[in-house]
Amino acid sequence: MHKTQCLIIGGGPAGLSAAIYAARAGLETQIVGCDPKVAGDYDIDNYFGFEATITGKELITRGRRQAAKFGTQIDCEKVLGVHHGEAGGFVVKTDVREFEACAVILATGVARSKPNIPDLAAFEGKGVSYCVSCDGYFYKGKPVVVAGEGLFAANQALELLAYTPNVRICTLGKAPSYPPDIARKLDEAGIAVLQSKITSLTGELDLSGLAGLKRIGLSDGTTLEAHGLFIALGEASSTDFAYTLGVERNGNFIQVDREMCTNIPGVFAAGDCTGGFLQISVAVGEGALAARSAIAHVKSTCPKARPVQTEG
Ligand code: FAD
Repeated sequence: MHKTQCLIIGGGPAGLSAAIYAARAGLETQIVGCDPKVAGDYDIDNYFGFEATITGKELITRGRRQAAKFGTQIDCEKVLGVHHGEAGGFVVKTDVREFEACAVILATGVARSKPNIPDLAAFEGKGVSYCVSCDGYFYKGKPVVVAGEGLFAANQALELLAYTPNVRICTLGKAPSYPPDIARKLDEAGIAVLQSKITSLTGELDLSGLAGLKRIGLSDGTTLEAHGLFIALGEASSTDFAYTLGVERNGNFIQVDREMCTNIPGVFAAGDCTGGFLQISVAVGEGALAARSAIAHVKSTCPKARPVQTEG
């Protein structure tokens, strides 16, 4: 387990700005994240201090260099899940390893969109879930389906085995995009991977209305018995981490106060994932505020042991 004081999920303008402040204040700072939204050849000409147009790629390269200069460790890994640690702090699981962190800053950009499945919203909380570690327990021994094509979906399906052996993945018409060793794990666990789209959700009615999901209709004409449908499209996002950690949300965005603190001590958020005006200048400012809050949290909760001074 790799330990760090401040772990930042996302290497975009918000995450890099947070890292510059946190690392410069002396915190052990780790960014986990790959190419941010703006890291392409987009022309940016509304960012303060760059009177000549700069590409997003160049801006991000400069930000990474600056964060690294102050000691930030930056790794291109995908975060699959964040949980509360048993001894306090947080455990962050990536596709490569696990970290233990005192403070976590969520800076993953905007949350991904929901899949286009008829009646999805009607079944939310009645069979449709976005978080295995929150809701997996409710489906003990029951048939469940995970919707998604990537590593995140595969990981959610494997996590569901703790509750039920009856797990399938439905990639919603896409080709699976996880590595061969994960495909082997799914195969060994008996998790079937279906590439059809989901065309219908059917539930049962009771006196109070819709009682819960029972069946899923697929585009190949077949029907699956499923009491739980876990949505896990693309990559895990801040909203997925928020579900697991108990962080309050505002629709698809993370709810923060003016200091970028969430309702969970030690968890902060910055940039597009908090909503509002989705611009680089805002993300950079919010990153600075989130870092300032994280620095205060780390100093009061888990300061690094000072090296013992020896005389002579
Ligand atoms: P992002 O830049 O989206 O960065 C999010 C980071 O999180 C990425 O590194 C991503 O890989 C990482 N991440 C996500 N999920 C995970 C995970 N599970 N594990 C690990 N890492 C993860 N704004 C302007 O101010 N001026 C402009 O001219 C401008 N032009 C734009 C042009 C385009 C085409 C687009 C799409 C956006 C533009 N924007 C512009 C908006 C700007 O890009 C965003 O406001 C800004 O990038 C937000 O920064 P962020 O750090 O919050 O998120």
